[in-house]
Amino acid sequence: MVQKIAIIGGGIVGSTAAYYLSQDEYANFEVSMFDEGIGQATKAAAGIISPWLSKRRNKKWFRLASDGAELVAKIAQETKMNDDAYANNGTIITRKNKESLDELYKIALEREKSNPQMGSVQYISKDEIKNLIPIIKNSPYDGLFVPGGSRIDGNLYCQHLLNIAMKRNLSIYKGKVKLINDNQILYKGKIFTFDKIILATGAWSKEILANLKINLNLRPQKGQLIELRIANNEFINKMPVMMPESEYDFIPVGREKLIIGATHDNDQGFDLKHEKSVDIALVKTANNLINNVKANDIILSKVGTRAYTDDFSPFLGMIPGHPSLFIGTGLGSSGLTTGPIVSKLIVDLIKNKKIDLNQYQKPISTYIN
Ligand SMILES: Cc1cc2nc3c(=O)[nH]c(=O)nc-3n(C[C@H](O)[C@H](O)[C@H](O)COP(=O)(O)OP(=O)(O)OC[C@H]3O[C@@H](n4cnc5c(N)ncnc54)[C@H](O)[C@@H]3O)c2cc1C
Repeated sequence: MVQKIAIIGGGIVGSTAAYYLSQDEYANFEVSMFDEGIGQATKAAAGIISPWLSKRRNKKWFRLASDGAELVAKIAQETKMNDDAYANNGTIITRKNKESLDELYKIALEREKSNPQMGSVQYISKDEIKNLIPIIKNSPYDGLFVPGGSRIDGNLYCQHLLNIAMKRNLSIYKGKVKLINDNQILYKGKIFTFDKIILATGAWSKEILANLKINLNLRPQKGQLIELRIANNEFINKMPVMMPESEYDFIPVGREKLIIGATHDNDQGFDLKHEKSVDIALVKTANNLINNVKANDIILSKVGTRAYTDDFSPFLGMIPGHPSLFIGTGLGSSGLTTGPIVSKLIVDLIKNKKIDLNQYQKPISTYIN
């Protein structure tokens, strides 16, 4: 029997779910995606996938993020994603002081053992950093090179997966929907009924569930970044991402685009206003590493809204007491890394596969009341 599935939200969670729902030739799904897209975090994101040297002590989050990084690489490979959407060029993490770099290296050696995707982490000197990223004039500090680190373009990644799914069983509808009950959605004045609904609604998940009197522990966070056009013949292919201590991140893309970002504003709610003062601060960071970057070099300034829970952990699963409603949100600032695995697990649940969510998260009731 055909199962009608709705996905609300077309960011990384929704798009990856659509991809997985289109992959199983034995399952019979008819999938509809509804997406408003305004303020979407995925489209605004910087694109760094490199969770392994995070100092977060939350083991469940680390499992989710490291399995997520591995899954992103697998999806990119199996769907033949091009370099603009996903590139595994490594990441460089610098530290001002030698002791904290050594401490990070120790963590790396420990984590390498159970995370093959990370690769073998190496010390990298200031001069070696300049060789890998020649546009950098003044890397002031030495760092570590993480070969498994990658960058993705959230928007291109989603488009690529949606194109695959649309050839099979996916229809996409633009605009905002309301949830009427566990199985019905209001879209452009009409009611649509589904067997199951996936809420991939990011920071807006609290709002959409309020109608069903379900309250989520979730808050929005504003993020802004800039894209610079650097006409510079020192751009080379395959430059890694650079994550300097106490500076914004530095993400070279292709041969002339550089992304600098991103900010984390907890007190601006869903505001999407583009702040000039933030652009200036981001350009200043760029100038700490390369010479003569000007505000005129900015080709795009992006703003998006991340979703955070109180313990900074994503959560996913069936909403307790609502067997046809599934959710995955609270991805915070590493949602391009965790989003794909969050969706794959949701789709596994929909396909009645046995999975152990305890390794990845606290009980879902922690985040819902
Ligand atoms: C500036 C910035 C930089 C970032 N950098 C990184 C990074 O380098 N690495 C990393 O791993 N992560 C990064 N992140 C975090 C990451 O982007 C997010 O965690 C992730 O994209 C969230 O994905 P999502 O699918 O849950 O939500 P979103 O991408 O926000 O998608 C949710 C979608 O649901 C739609 N929606 C909501 N309600 C409705 C409704 N009622 N009807 C219709 N549609 C609806 C929205 O319009 C939106 O399109 C960054 C985020 C920002 C903002």
